[in-house]
Amino acid sequence: MKVAVFSCKPYDQRTLSKAVAETPSIELSYFESRLSSETMTLTNGFDAVSCFVNDNIDRHVIQYLADHGITAIALRCAGFNNVDLSAAKAANIKVYHVPDYSPTSVAEHAVALIMTLNRKTHRAYHRVKEGNFALEGLLGFNVQSRTVGCIGTGRIGQAFCRIMRGFGCRVLCYDISPNNDLVDIGCEYTDLETLYSDSDILSLHCPLNASTHHLINKNSLSKMKDGVMIINTSRGALVNAQEAIDALYTGKIGYLGLDVYEQENSIFFEDMSSHIIQDSVFQLMLTFPNVVVTGHQGYFTQEALDHIATTTLDNLIAHAEE
Ligand code: NAD
Repeated sequence: MKVAVFSCKPYDQRTLSKAVAETPSIELSYFESRLSSETMTLTNGFDAVSCFVNDNIDRHVIQYLADHGITAIALRCAGFNNVDLSAAKAANIKVYHVPDYSPTSVAEHAVALIMTLNRKTHRAYHRVKEGNFALEGLLGFNVQSRTVGCIGTGRIGQAFCRIMRGFGCRVLCYDISPNNDLVDIGCEYTDLETLYSDSDILSLHCPLNASTHHLINKNSLSKMKDGVMIINTSRGALVNAQEAIDALYTGKIGYLGLDVYEQENSIFFEDMSSHIIQDSVFQLMLTFPNVVVTGHQGYFTQEALDHIATTTLDNLIAHAEE
């Protein structure tokens, strides 16, 4: 089976090449460009394509793939939102995905953001590089014994809660369908109001949907402790960025750690640097010393890349054997 792999960065290629060496029935060709109507002719002569979050597999692309003998789209991500699934079904193209490639990676990244902010490590590092070993302004606090709120206790939220329990935190959870395994390790499910009022640190692990859009806003922030730490490794639009900035000015938010932000949109992985420059709200956020931002790297560990590669190949093998 000949597979055209799109949106393939050098690190993806290294990982996939290693994994496919064990699978002689599959031949991979790598393209750094994203699959879209502009690049779809690159799929000529292939049996399947493999895509990532920013490939645009719309009705027009699907029709082209079907007309040129492609029978499978193996996504290297969890979400399907960049694929016209009904068009794929009508064209008899099977779509595969990798449902849970990185719960531990994302959970550990959320914890890393907490541990950076509480000890001001990002600021300390720059000082020391300049030869400044003064501690003034770097006073931290222990995470142990703090109350941590977790909204969304699915795969990632659950991994996060387990780590925070290990730190000796009181862990308050909110989810529309609670998980008894977490109760067994001492986590407490509560209503959102209690989670807001009692948490010193609040980490978001729910999906973005109509009920969670701008969950962190002026109103919810008003119910929280002064100086609360907010961590978002989930989806940017869970936080109203402008209202978060207002809360940073007043001190309502004491610490803000973001791996995702609303403005990243579809150009995620494409040209993030120029986009950041254009976005004034985001620019303003970066000026606060108590804000740490990373560029959607929560999932980005070698373990997650290995899992993505092997699951993608398993999906392609299963397709070939159908
Ligand atoms: P999951 O589906 O396993 O868990 C999500 C949980 O949220 C479920 O338990 C669900 O019941 C709960 N939920 C749904 N609506 C809710 C609501 N209104 N209020 C409270 N809880 C609600 O998902 P997951 O794999 O744990 O992923 C969680 C989030 O992390 C997703 O938004 C995903 O996009 C994001 N993510 C980020 C990265 C990254 O690199 N930063 C990587 C992977 C996933």
